Amino acid sequence: MEKKLQMVDLHGQYLKIKKEIDEGIAAVLETCAFINGPQVKQFADALASYTGVRHAVPCANGTDALMISLMALGLRPGDEVVVPAFTYAASAEAAAILGLVPVMADVDPVSFNMTAGNIREVLTPKTRAVIPVHLFGQSCDMEPILSLADEYGLYVIEDNAQSLGAEYEFSDGTVKKTGAMGTMGCTSFFPSKNLGCYGDGGAILTDDDRLAESARMVASHGQKVKYRHSVIGCNSRLDTIQAVVLGAKLPHLDEYCAARREAAAYYTRALRNVEGLDVPEEMPFARHVYNQYTLRIGCGRRDELKDFLEARGIPSMIYYPLPLDRQEAFCRFSRESASLEVSRELASSVLSLPLHTELAHWQQDMVIDAVKEFFKQ
Ligand SMILES: *Cc1c(COP(=O)(O)O)cnc(C)c1O
Repeated sequence: MEKKLQMVDLHGQYLKIKKEIDEGIAAVLETCAFINGPQVKQFADALASYTGVRHAVPCANGTDALMISLMALGLRPGDEVVVPAFTYAASAEAAAILGLVPVMADVDPVSFNMTAGNIREVLTPKTRAVIPVHLFGQSCDMEPILSLADEYGLYVIEDNAQSLGAEYEFSDGTVKKTGAMGTMGCTSFFPSKNLGCYGDGGAILTDDDRLAESARMVASHGQKVKYRHSVIGCNSRLDTIQAVVLGAKLPHLDEYCAARREAAAYYTRALRNVEGLDVPEEMPFARHVYNQYTLRIGCGRRDELKDFLEARGIPSMIYYPLPLDRQEAFCRFSRESASLEVSRELASSVLSLPLHTELAHWQQDMVIDAVKEFFKQ
């Protein structure tokens, strides 16, 4: 049977590891240890070792991971947290909900990521933390961001929700996994992320023993000892069934990333010389893991291309149609001092094509032919 072209193909991926997943879930059903079963810690330890950090603290989702990190760091209302203007809203939201001030920085037009230069433009004496988001699967240029943070005494919270498995190379040749370079790293296991579970999940990564303990306490109603609440926390857990799914999938993450890179290279070879679009670029310091394959479309033709593809049964998505400063909930945080021109321009020109671990070349050829046909008109 011909498979329908989709943005993600979770079912195809599941079928390849069905036996292990089904048996693992059945084992949880037998023990009924739905919360805090031993598989949760097993997965957290495996994730810490995969990313090369001392601690991985599991939680309910990626947005909670960001919020718990900000709480564990003890930031106070009015403290400023720098976030990119071109991203998913979760990082700004986590700050704002705690009474912190999300300050929007612009991004680089080629990598789509916030740079140290962008951050520098919006620093004030109230800045306490920065949240670099490794967007679409590619690492931010972390070395300059880490030295800027050092210079100003800022915490760095990496939003690694889209880039688990990606790497960054420092100028001395050291290679680190994204999420493992800042004060804390946050990730999400939403089903469509590179390591996705079958519901919601998230985790916080850190090398700092004290911060790991704080994050654990915050995620557990502020308790270290049961029924002794030391701080105001929240309730944010990764459940055992999700930990089983993640435990089964983590050993395949490198394969999944390689499949994504291969599919991206196939698109890029075919589309790089098409006039009217820019293919995504891999920065020299980054090993991109393509959570999204995102084109930039020139001449205001993005929406027209999207409709053209849709008419041919080819899905595509706009991540993200509005920069933060144009969002009703966040526009109040926008500042005149910051030029967010690149973020605005990207919001009106980006288009993500279908890309997942199960994508076949004939499916990609369909997409490629349609894109080429559009630009020939
Ligand atoms: C998905 C995502 C999140 C939030 O993760 P959830 O698990 O959905 O809460 C945060 N930041 C970015 C960049 C994301 O893509």
